[in-house]
Amino acid sequence: MAIIYLDNNATTQVAPEVVEAMTPFFTDQYFNPSSMYEAARGPADAISDARKTIAKLLGRAKPSEILFTSCASESNNTAIFGTIAANPDRKHIITSAVEHPAVFEVAHDLVRRGFGVDFIPVDDQGRIDKGEFVRALRPDTLLVSLMHANNESGVIFPIEELSRITKETDPSIIFHTDATQSVGKLEIDLRGSFKNVDLLSCSGHKLHAPKGIGALFIRRGTPCRPYLLGGHQEDGRRAGTENVAFIVGLARALELAMDRRDEDVARITAMRDRLQRELVERIPYLEVNGGEAPRLDNTLNVACHFIEGEGILYQLSEHGICASSGSACTSGSLEPSHVLRAMKVPFTAVHGSVRFSLSRYNTETEIDKVIEVFPEIVSSLRRLSPYWDATADQPRPEGLEMLNETEMPQAREQR
Ligand code: PLP
Repeated sequence: MAIIYLDNNATTQVAPEVVEAMTPFFTDQYFNPSSMYEAARGPADAISDARKTIAKLLGRAKPSEILFTSCASESNNTAIFGTIAANPDRKHIITSAVEHPAVFEVAHDLVRRGFGVDFIPVDDQGRIDKGEFVRALRPDTLLVSLMHANNESGVIFPIEELSRITKETDPSIIFHTDATQSVGKLEIDLRGSFKNVDLLSCSGHKLHAPKGIGALFIRRGTPCRPYLLGGHQEDGRRAGTENVAFIVGLARALELAMDRRDEDVARITAMRDRLQRELVERIPYLEVNGGEAPRLDNTLNVACHFIEGEGILYQLSEHGICASSGSACTSGSLEPSHVLRAMKVPFTAVHGSVRFSLSRYNTETEIDKVIEVFPEIVSSLRRLSPYWDATADQPRPEGLEMLNETEMPQAREQR
């Protein structure tokens, strides 16, 4: 059975062009880039070229501002713990209620260590509460860490505005953004619209490079202590022999993403919008999570009332369709995702949310297949649901009485 892969916010297929660029560094160019002999110059130059490429594509950053890491989780941990280690006098941090666990869990750990952390709420479309954000900025705020695009809903935070407000309030507050889902998809200009961003994290495997490579932009002058101590690689900012092939792969993947961005965005948006339109039309009691907010073009997160996401995923998988019921890191747990809870997705749908995330490798035929099978999966599961009246093909009135009025789909639509 052919796989229809619609889980590209979890990870992506490595592009053939990326594999080709990486291959020499697994075969004849295997030397340690720190070695002194001539043969090591190839890998060392390849790292230097990759750094220049990434710096340029992120909007004229300086190559020395790009630090290679093993993943976005490491980039986020380095950004947050590195900043804290370099600035022991301030103990207040601002983040959001919908961050990826690679920031969210770090922030909770900081609470346990005695830091003051504000988790800024979002509205029911996943948009950040700007008023709350402004009120949260304090004289002792050390760091703001807000994601650029959400991995579950695809909702985009206005980083340009939030970072500007931060610096206007106090230029010494450090601004970090986790741009793991947006790098390669959205315009990022570190000398232009993102000029107030001090630290930016990204990861290769979300943009058709392999898993196990990430980067952290650290604006020159930003106080941030190394997180991994040991050798002097990366100018003493991160110990560990560089993963040359993957670094080359990350640069090639970003280059490809930017070269093809207009073409990819147009195709992917058209497919995502058609999928959304058809599902909304064919399935009653289905809502688009974050559908009214600015969103990544590749992401569609639908809330199917009265059923469980796990059941939907299992049945989709029987058709070869790969999707997700939350972030890859939280799926497998029966706890509803903290992102959907923060968005106040109603009780009847918080367990029935499914995320489709597309890439340049998807086709219209694949989307046709999802449009064909998904509505049938939803209605067959609803027939088994205690909240659903199989004969009337609509919610069971006595089931609904058990629910809080404010959690009803209709009630939410009116808000
Ligand atoms: N941040 C966001 C927004 C993500 O979506 C992910 C991965 O899902 C991560 C961080 C972690 O990325 P990595 O797997 O490279 O550590």
